[in-house]
Amino acid sequence: MPSSDYDPASLPDLLPLYYRRLFPFSQYYRWLNYGGVQKNYFQNREFSFTLKDDIYVRYQSFSTQNELEKEMQKMNPYKIDIGAVYSHRPNQHNTVKSGTFQALEKELVFDIDMTDYDDVRSCCSAADICSKCWTLMTIAIRILDRALRDDFGFRHLLWVYSGRRGVHCWVCDEAARKLSVAARSAVAEYLSLVKGGEETVRKVVLTDPIHPFIRESLTVVEHYFSQYALQEQNILSNKESIDKVLALVPEDVRKDLLQHFQTEKNPEKRWGRLKALAKNKQAAVKKGQYFEKEIMLQYCYPRLDVNVSKGVNHLLKSPFSVHPKTGRISVPIDLRELETFDPFDVPTISLICEELDRPRKGEEEEEEDETKEKENEKDVAERRKIRDYKRTSLAKYVKYLDQFLDGMARSWKGELLRKSDLQKDF
Ligand SMILES: [Zn+2]
Repeated sequence: MPSSDYDPASLPDLLPLYYRRLFPFSQYYRWLNYGGVQKNYFQNREFSFTLKDDIYVRYQSFSTQNELEKEMQKMNPYKIDIGAVYSHRPNQHNTVKSGTFQALEKELVFDIDMTDYDDVRSCCSAADICSKCWTLMTIAIRILDRALRDDFGFRHLLWVYSGRRGVHCWVCDEAARKLSVAARSAVAEYLSLVKGGEETVRKVVLTDPIHPFIRESLTVVEHYFSQYALQEQNILSNKESIDKVLALVPEDVRKDLLQHFQTEKNPEKRWGRLKALAKNKQAAVKKGQYFEKEIMLQYCYPRLDVNVSKGVNHLLKSPFSVHPKTGRISVPIDLRELETFDPFDVPTISLICEELDRPRKGEEEEEEDETKEKENEKDVAERRKIRDYKRTSLAKYVKYLDQFLDGMARSWKGELLRKSDLQKDF
């Protein structure tokens, strides 16, 4: 369903339905309660709501899943952000002695926004995205996911589409949640390669020897570079973009290439020439000449908003929050289907609300049975809610969150280890 079918004006009518019948509260609570391992972990978590007319309410907190549900159904937030786990209940932060209310823990989070790539994408700018530049998000996820797992040993990474033009990563491992501000900064700095603002021409500078992490990242970029940068972004096809690339190579190489490009029009062959010249240089000079690698990284390496990652108390948009502008739900991304993930396929709130109204075969009888059963109201409501999201395009994303949570639960119980031992016996 195209985004044009969503009308932002309909949001006030759709949100009550969404929070009453579709929002996956039980999975959401299961996630943020982290197995109840630490006392008051859920209770001391900050939520903030953006309400109609941009009214922003910070320091919301809830004792139980039920309280969270009731409050969200009452407030119908346009946007939900998740903050830190504090020393005290955030909704009582005014009542504790000043200086004692402190952010203690939070998932390590990453925020990647397509607008930060505006100088290296030619297809769109600002808030716009298309299937061509979405490749940048795919590359970012591949690079960061590998590094966070292999280089840092994290295992529980929840990748989430922001609902508009970017992705978020929630690293949920206990060790990640307990990281200090200094440690978070160190991780964010380790993962940052593209440096400098608009005035900086050469934003990636490699030195000898190239760090193994950068080599691994280059392997990912190489996989996408030809199709993405040469074919789709045409970085070596028109004068303006060629000038931008040539600003990143040494003077003599630039001259050579300009001459070569007068007769050679094929972007692959042009890139081949550039690579060959880099190789010659590397053989001739002792000092590192990695301009072709620098270009690949400058055009494709993930651009992180490091401030989001550094702070423990920094808020980040919650999964399953609605994006008010596009109406799209902020859904978790299953990395097994990353290559085919299409942000334009992500359901909008209007679509899933409409799907609820579609009649289903055999549904009338089912509902009649329910009335007959005379169960207590809450049970019926609870069971209906489970079925409700399953009847919509939201189902597969909730199912994926369930699998993610199962993975965390297994690792708490040490079952992963036991299972891997069992598997060895087969
Ligand atoms: Zn684009």
